[in-house]
Amino acid sequence: MVNAVYPGTFDPITNGHLDLIKRAAKMFEHVTVAVASNNTKNPLFDMNERVDMAIDVLTDFENVSVVGFDNLLVEFTEMHNASVILRGLRAVSDFEYEFQLAGMNRSLAPDIETLFLTTAEQYAYLSSSLVKEVARLGGNITKFVPEQVIAEIEKKLG
Ligand code: ADP
Repeated sequence: MVNAVYPGTFDPITNGHLDLIKRAAKMFEHVTVAVASNNTKNPLFDMNERVDMAIDVLTDFENVSVVGFDNLLVEFTEMHNASVILRGLRAVSDFEYEFQLAGMNRSLAPDIETLFLTTAEQYAYLSSSLVKEVARLGGNITKFVPEQVIAEIEKKLG
């Protein structure tokens, strides 16, 4: 059986991420959600807050764990005995960057495969950054993120 790592910023985790994790949990023996510290992206939540939110919404999944990381992704993947890096594709616009990332990671670690799951249609337009934008402007985000995350966004944005 194969273990997978699902890396991202998860600032914060959305229903789109969750849908992908649910589907991946059925396909892989274990899925490690890898929360990148990604300070260059200037995230709203620090890494520990993003990890805690993801843990909170994923408690029911026995074969899913959540870990923060700030080292090289392929090294992290090897350390967790995984041979697959999982990414989500929403639109053609995701493709170019993802193609580049997958190529770089293959060049660094040829034994690790990057696999893509396409988004469920209802989440195709959903991104963490849009959710934050809508929340900042006072829009309703209940359809886009789990309840626990709404409370954290409200706390953060005041
Ligand atoms: P990153 O900063 O690495 O892009 P994200 O947290 O934005 O991290 O996304 C992590 C992964 O989840 C990426 O592969 C991204 O394409 C995918 N993803 C993000 N939103 C969705 C969604 N709504 N449906 C499916 N996949 C998604």
